[in-house]
Amino acid sequence: MPISVHVLGSSGGYPANGQPCSGYLVRGTAGAILLDCGPGVATALLRDGPHCNLDAIAISHLHPDHTLDLIPLAYSLLTEWLVDGRTVPLPLFVPLGGIDFLRRFSDLFGHRQWRLPTDGGSPGKQAIATSLAQGQDWVFSVFDIREYMPGDDFGRGDLTVRTHPVDHGVPTAAMRIDDADKSVVYSADTRFLPSLASFASRTDLFFLDAHLSGLFAPGGAHMTPMEAGRLGAMAEASELVLCHLATPEDGDSARRAAAVEFKGPIHLACQTSEYAL
Ligand SMILES: [Zn+2]
Repeated sequence: MPISVHVLGSSGGYPANGQPCSGYLVRGTAGAILLDCGPGVATALLRDGPHCNLDAIAISHLHPDHTLDLIPLAYSLLTEWLVDGRTVPLPLFVPLGGIDFLRRFSDLFGHRQWRLPTDGGSPGKQAIATSLAQGQDWVFSVFDIREYMPGDDFGRGDLTVRTHPVDHGVPTAAMRIDDADKSVVYSADTRFLPSLASFASRTDLFFLDAHLSGLFAPGGAHMTPMEAGRLGAMAEASELVLCHLATPEDGDSARRAAAVEFKGPIHLACQTSEYAL
């Protein structure tokens, strides 16, 4: 199976023009992993049914445009546990501080106050009921939450994600997934960072933060499209995908700016949903 990336959403900051925020579904021989889970991503992922059909989720950093739909996805997993007999938690990799973040986030909704009958029902239902009776948060039952330090490698089985710390003001990791002879790199949100070029060296498809265009051109902890193009050229990437634009209208000017530095194909995540390598 060739590696592919389905862009579930790439809008920067907020889900403008009906485009969800960051969410990239990478499929390869080892399985399917979702990179980031911003507002709207659960809607896109669950478009055709109640199950998310993932093997893991990896979160680059804890800003809301990359995390808010984890709770809706937890509800879809809860349905699998209660109704469809699932008993295996879904690995969820979060940067350091992510467990406390998720506990406080989930506490806002009173999840730990829920109760279910502990007798009878499927093994999945009994497991959830027992954890609730013990005062546990069911979100921590349906997810197997593991913290990583940006720079660590992590994964599940053959599905390995290499990470690289980037410059976004909070712990944030770029991610690289290699599968057979192809690779995908996702910069996450970051300022221009030369070390990212060697991390992304000769990747086939480089998803790059190009947020500082259009509305957001004045500045922030992101890259301009021209910086994204420069980083892609330094990495000798085969193709670039510009991400995290404030609105799709910024796309054409962002692509022109990136093309000053990068001479290969440049795509816009907001215009293409599927990339197959
Ligand atoms: Zn962001």
